[in-house]
Amino acid sequence: MRRLRRCKIIATLGPATSDHTMLAALFEAGVDVFRINMSHASHDDMRERVRMIRSLETEFGRPIGILLDLQGPKLRLGTFVNGSAQLSRGAHFVLDSNPAPGDTGRVYLPHPEILRALQPGHTVLIDDGKVRLHVVEAHPQKAIAIVDIAGTISNRKGVSLPDTEISVSSMTDKDHADLAAGLNEGVDWVAVSFVQRPDDVAEVKKEVRGRAFIMAKIEKPQAISRLEEIIEISDGLMVARGDLGVELPLEKVPGLQKRMTRMSRKLGKPVVIATQMLESMISLPVPTRAEVSDVATAVFEGADAIMLSAESASGRYPVEAVRMMNNIAEEVEQEPYYRQIINAQRALPEATGADAIANAARDVAETLDLKAIVAWTASGSTALRIARERPESPILALTPSHETACRLALAWGVHAIVTDDAQDIDDMASRACSHARDEGFAAFGERVIIVAGVPFGTPGATNMVRIAYIDGKPK
Ligand code: PEP
Repeated sequence: MRRLRRCKIIATLGPATSDHTMLAALFEAGVDVFRINMSHASHDDMRERVRMIRSLETEFGRPIGILLDLQGPKLRLGTFVNGSAQLSRGAHFVLDSNPAPGDTGRVYLPHPEILRALQPGHTVLIDDGKVRLHVVEAHPQKAIAIVDIAGTISNRKGVSLPDTEISVSSMTDKDHADLAAGLNEGVDWVAVSFVQRPDDVAEVKKEVRGRAFIMAKIEKPQAISRLEEIIEISDGLMVARGDLGVELPLEKVPGLQKRMTRMSRKLGKPVVIATQMLESMISLPVPTRAEVSDVATAVFEGADAIMLSAESASGRYPVEAVRMMNNIAEEVEQEPYYRQIINAQRALPEATGADAIANAARDVAETLDLKAIVAWTASGSTALRIARERPESPILALTPSHETACRLALAWGVHAIVTDDAQDIDDMASRACSHARDEGFAAFGERVIIVAGVPFGTPGATNMVRIAYIDGKPK
């Protein structure tokens, strides 16, 4: 099964998408990677979903990516005597360390480190910004604030702090347990929520020890000032527009999305555009024109993947939403402007053998109208550096590693298959050609370009290109 688009689709699983028939329908409609959101899934749910996805792989004969999204330190209020409290504009409201139920004058904030970090002038957003306060007096045990946007707040509502750098790790005890359970099941990507600094990713990296790729979710303003370092240390990036749009003015999000997409492309790290892409399809079978345009913008910018959240997790039209994303991406990628925009954002190769070869392979493939760039890749890095070139020719990645193939499911334009390592250079060329033919990339008499590292199986040793004719008859 071969997709006719370069941009990949991620669908979040949830109550609307929990059985085998539905997962198969989503995959057939275009899903490349399934996301399991640990904010809403138990370990048993997660294991069951991983098992179903792996059985789909066998059924369809294609590697499928699994992204485990960790909840991260979601801050929450304590409770209220009456379950909720109405806050009026201009009133004083206290966040404190007293676990007693709150009222219209105060509430427990069960995060002592946050009380210590709050400073006069800091903004406190409650329930995704529906209620807004600003701190006027800060003490280690309490912060006195004034209500700027009034409203009703209730038990355990979420708290966002756009101005406050929090010294705690982005990993909670629950995240450590979820991560260990996910790695045990062999998930391919792990998304770290509420990353503020490169160290947050480094901490997870130490724990993961290469068993999965790590994606930094950018949803905190504090991460923006250290974006390049965060992307450098991560394997990929998610533009998590939901929380980003709570902590920053909404009008700043599109510009940041562009900045993050371009920086990730420059550094050769897969970038995912997430949240509210087809939001109205949670309840309607057809999206708004504006949503279609939003998905198209991400594709035009050369994002590696576009993501569905509630649309596929709990919406009424999950398959239709995937099909819609698939159709938009296919259509955009046929537009003449698409190539112009993609080429205009292409980053120069870095001064490495791998990049020089990736750049040359694209150039040769385009000059000679070759049908595919076939990359032999152990760790996936050769294929990712070629994807960074955003070539016109499709990329066929050949790898002996099932893990690598599944990780590459998220990368722009990469069609990965699992195959034994080549024995020698002739074997490498002849098997590259037969796979290109069998996967429908090239026919008898057409040519492909092959990229490899010799000796085989040495990650990072990309040092060879060869043009080869497809000389066998189709199977
Ligand atoms: C987001 O905030 O956009 C996001 C993807 O994160 P989550 O769905 O985990 O809140």
